[in-house]
Amino acid sequence: MRKHKELLFEMGRAGRRGYSLPACDVPVKPVSELLPASMQRKLPLDLPELSEGEVMRHYTALSTRNHGVDSGFYPLGSCTMKYNPKVNEEAAALAGFAFAHPCQDESTVQGALELLFKAEESLKEITGMDRITFQPVAGAHGELTGLMMIGAYHRSRNENRNKVLVPDSAHGTNPATAAMAGFEVVQIPSDDRGLVDIRALKEALGSDTAALMLTNPNTLGLFEEEILEIAAAVHEAGGLLYYDGANLNAVMGYARPGDMGFDVVHLNLHKTFSTPHGGGGPGSGTVGVKEKLVPFLPLPLVGRNEERYYFDYDRPASIGKIHSFHGNFGVVVKAYTYICMMGSSGLKQVSADAVLNANYLMSRLKSSYNLPYDRLCKHEFVLSAREQKKNGVSASDIAKALLDFGYHPPTVYFPLVVEEALMIEPTETESKETLDSFAGVMEKIACLARDNPARVKEAPHTTVVGRLDEVRAARQPRVRWRRSDS
Ligand SMILES: *Cc1c(COP(=O)(O)O)cnc(C)c1O
Repeated sequence: MRKHKELLFEMGRAGRRGYSLPACDVPVKPVSELLPASMQRKLPLDLPELSEGEVMRHYTALSTRNHGVDSGFYPLGSCTMKYNPKVNEEAAALAGFAFAHPCQDESTVQGALELLFKAEESLKEITGMDRITFQPVAGAHGELTGLMMIGAYHRSRNENRNKVLVPDSAHGTNPATAAMAGFEVVQIPSDDRGLVDIRALKEALGSDTAALMLTNPNTLGLFEEEILEIAAAVHEAGGLLYYDGANLNAVMGYARPGDMGFDVVHLNLHKTFSTPHGGGGPGSGTVGVKEKLVPFLPLPLVGRNEERYYFDYDRPASIGKIHSFHGNFGVVVKAYTYICMMGSSGLKQVSADAVLNANYLMSRLKSSYNLPYDRLCKHEFVLSAREQKKNGVSASDIAKALLDFGYHPPTVYFPLVVEEALMIEPTETESKETLDSFAGVMEKIACLARDNPARVKEAPHTTVVGRLDEVRAARQPRVRWRRSDS
């Protein structure tokens, strides 16, 4: 039986209190003297009145309805929902980091500056780039930063380049960001291998090309095999190369965007470098650039002279600020802790394990589901539910059926180049046993889709909330509760 969870407003009882404070012992003026009558509220605030225990139980109950990496397998493609070691949290909670104020004098935050400096050194080494900014707070925000710098670079050379080429296997944020940054987006098709169609790319290149944005590995989980040829062609046309490195856990320690000829790369510290994400942040879309783009990086960067670390604001060609202060500093502390704990051989192992896990799962599942691009994958792979669809069972039905077994569904209906797509990224932190039991469940759902499709189409059966009317939820959302509604 599904039970409606009462809202705090419904649970509240007049006069109940969740606090006990000493009586105020300073004189307080009445509101009527502080505010003009027109600004004073006419009715009392309608807030729920509850005890501390009731509020605690309410939120704890709600929190257990959520699926997270700490509660179960979360193979959400392109999102790298891997386990985040708790030592990262310990480091970020150190008082010197957690209570530092961004406006403090440099001399009092030397340790924080040193951490930013050293994290930059590590990420320069990992990406093959010349400088790094930590200011952007999400992957898409990093993309915007990168494209703004690319625009500034072309303008500084009096070149008018307004087109950004984006393969159809790119992450969805790439074309969205290019459009938002004011560029015209030109889509480049994939070939039958699932890689960039080089002939189409070369035809699209010209004196108006500002950049190519390449997601590598692409959203099919495939490494662009002709990446050096792609890079050379774009540079020859005078364009710059943008590397979407959100999922660097597929290649880290083995290949570097800088060595492939890329001018800008963004990393999602909240994916590859094991800081939590989901629910909108906080994250870090750290961006690395080659020398020619260094002058345009956001303000400030961290510098070091003989005596101390300092904020370098003396950068006249900078695009300015893309976020307040130094971005999500706590996220950088967590990512740097992870880098130090892993060491260079550990980071390399991360990539090897991420690729091994994805290939293992792919090879187990390709007999129950269609695998449109049957090649060695990197961190993720994309199945198609087109066989199941013939029986009326869609990718979305399969995703919902997984909920009954305690798994978070994979990404569905993306990338668009695959019909009924199920995009699966197991990540390196999962054991063989977890992968096996997930594969077993996927196989079971494939059998159900064949023998009892209605059961799958009505899933989920065991969750707190069943199938939602998605159209009504989008068109008539009820986001506000009124006492009269209950
Ligand atoms: C997650 C992801 C992004 C976007 O990152 P956000 O932090 O969600 O903005 C961009 N590109 C790729 C390849 C990604 O996986």
